Amino acid sequence: MKILLLGKNGQVGWELQRALSVLGDVVALDRHPASTPYGELKGDLSDLDSLRAAISAVSPQVIVNAAAYTAVDKAESERETAHIVNALASQVMAEEAKRLDAWLVHYSTDYVFDGTGTTPWSETDSVAPVNYYGATKLEGERLIQASGCKHLIFRTSWVYAARGNNFAKTMVRLAKERQTLNVIADQVGVPTGADLLADVAVLALQQALHNPDLAGVYHLAPSGETTWHAYASYVIEFARSHGEDLMVEAVNPIATTEYPTPASRPLNSRLDTAKLRNSFTLHLPDWQSGVTRMLMEDLNK
Ligand code: NDP
Repeated sequence: MKILLLGKNGQVGWELQRALSVLGDVVALDRHPASTPYGELKGDLSDLDSLRAAISAVSPQVIVNAAAYTAVDKAESERETAHIVNALASQVMAEEAKRLDAWLVHYSTDYVFDGTGTTPWSETDSVAPVNYYGATKLEGERLIQASGCKHLIFRTSWVYAARGNNFAKTMVRLAKERQTLNVIADQVGVPTGADLLADVAVLALQQALHNPDLAGVYHLAPSGETTWHAYASYVIEFARSHGEDLMVEAVNPIATTEYPTPASRPLNSRLDTAKLRNSFTLHLPDWQSGVTRMLMEDLNK
């Protein structure tokens, strides 16, 4: 089976390079031209003609899109680029998937919801993005659905990866440098490892390939919930108990209103994952196990 992976160097894309490799031959692209068995190709989502040409040249059975314009605050001012990358490029992938009778695997976000309430969002809840990034991701979802291609769209939240920087590593670093940290305590969500996002996509895809009725939108996050403040406190306690020399004495809870950003953030990022777990007979681990594993790798360096 031929699989085309776009966004190979992002948090999720990097993990997908590993996870997809057991399903078939993976042609993995980023935005830069690369030499492939199908010629020189680039997966630049802001260049829709070259994107279409790359998909056409590979003619895959599965397209996996891990690329996105993810700079949530910058998206407010760089609207055109965010729109092309998150919405119009998704449409090109979906049209090509439809033409090739291929599957399209795509990621979206809890930011399609308005973040009100305290109940986990289900796939059938009404959408109302609170920022432009969320609006472009929602449009991308809708364009994929409208194309009629076979698709799996995974909405997730608060993504971190072992590779590169992330919130947890930043908290440990700051805890070594400062006595006091102020962290937002009124946004609730679930930290989600890029490795889990990649592994679940592969497991789901494996089943969907034999059962096209499984196509659709799914919410995907580990079990449990936390706030950024509780997440930071957990990480700092973990680092301290593993011998890290930390200067921090107080981790203070603050309100979202005390930390203004160009893009609004939803307060309720909880996702109800029952549809995913039931459809694919999957177990989702608690969020702490993934965070702990990532921290152990980092602290043991
Ligand atoms: P990252 O920001 O880690 O990776 C995004 C990737 O997209 C980068 O490799 C980036 O490449 C690439 N990209 C951006 N613009 C273009 C372009 N024009 N052409 C080609 N590639 C481009 O994101 P994640 O791995 O965290 O996100 C994966 C998916 O999960 C996305 O769909 C995102 O919307 C979704 N998501 C992410 C959340 C999060 O907290 N991060 C939360 C909820 C959903 P480059 O490095 O060259 O810019």
